[in-house]
Amino acid sequence: MKNEKCSGISRRSFLKLGAGAAAAGGLSLPGRLDAAQTGKLATLIDLSLCDGCKDRDIPACVSACKANARGRIPEPVDPIPDPWPRKTVEDWSKKQDVADRLTPYNYIYVHEAKIDGQTLYVPRRCMHCDNPACATICPFSANNKRPVGAVVIDSDLCFGGAKCKDVCPWEIPQRQSGVGIYLKVLPGFMGNGVMYKCDLCIDRLNAGKNPACIEACPRKAMLIGPREDIEKIADERARAMNGFIYGRNENGGTSTLYVSPVSFDRIHATMEKKPGRPDMKPNVERRMAKTDAYGKAVLASPVLGLAAAGALGWYSRRRKPAKEGGNND
Ligand code: SF4
Ligand code: SF4
Ligand code: SF4
Repeated sequence: MKNEKCSGISRRSFLKLGAGAAAAGGLSLPGRLDAAQTGKLATLIDLSLCDGCKDRDIPACVSACKANARGRIPEPVDPIPDPWPRKTVEDWSKKQDVADRLTPYNYIYVHEAKIDGQTLYVPRRCMHCDNPACATICPFSANNKRPVGAVVIDSDLCFGGAKCKDVCPWEIPQRQSGVGIYLKVLPGFMGNGVMYKCDLCIDRLNAGKNPACIEACPRKAMLIGPREDIEKIADERARAMNGFIYGRNENGGTSTLYVSPVSFDRIHATMEKKPGRPDMKPNVERRMAKTDAYGKAVLASPVLGLAAAGALGWYSRRRKPAKEGGNND
């Protein structure tokens, strides 16, 4: 798609273009997922359709995500032990209602991009990259790309070291200290909590349901479906609105495609990169070059080796009752 400077465009035009493009596309929109579906999925976020749910206190996608995630994040221990060597404690447990940035309790938020006197609303969450450096760097393999396309952090295995956040171009994963496996192994000496982010509602996908945010969107601004179909719809819509696509090539390719009538250069220019508020720099390169070597070096560390052994022992003890039908908590 082109990336030249785009002229101003009214919100009415955004909405009309999006709806028209969907109809003109001639493709059947993906419906409810088949529980048996195992193919690779992708999602589409159409900025011509999203109106930011301005009639609500919190956008419907954000509320639905919060409701779906409720109870998933345990309460941290009190007091949270000081980690070593850096004493950075991140505790969001008393700010669970925050909805205008990513946190360990909030996996999607909506950025307001003011351009030419109009506002474009941009839902942001994990892009579910095709070859995610965040998963490659993880020394405990706690973070993995699933066959369906979702990149999922196993909170039972994550030590909260935040390497995944460091290598993510959008710094998506968010840490909650005082929870997780590190407390059972070497609290204070290694680890610092658990990293949390959007997991594409993997449990819902496995149950044949759509992600909660997609189901809740009153404007059908987000879609999920087989990757090939989503790519075709994205191309059709972008063509019809003479617009732009983001996510196809960024960070080596992702499972999330944004379509917009306004260029992502201009959208990016409205974003000040801050913690929990990712920007949208076009053509962002994949941070992999250093990653493999560093990940291997970390894995070779005897301290981490010891911790890994301890962690695995704890993990298998913790998992055993579940297999026998007991409570896993
Ligand atoms: S957006 Fe970041 S956290 Fe999400 S899969 Fe890509 S690299 Fe990982
Ligand atoms: S896919 Fe699920 S976890 Fe991800 S933002 Fe949507 S509701 Fe939240
Ligand atoms: S994606 Fe849908 S639910 Fe979310 S802010 Fe936009 S219109 Fe509202």
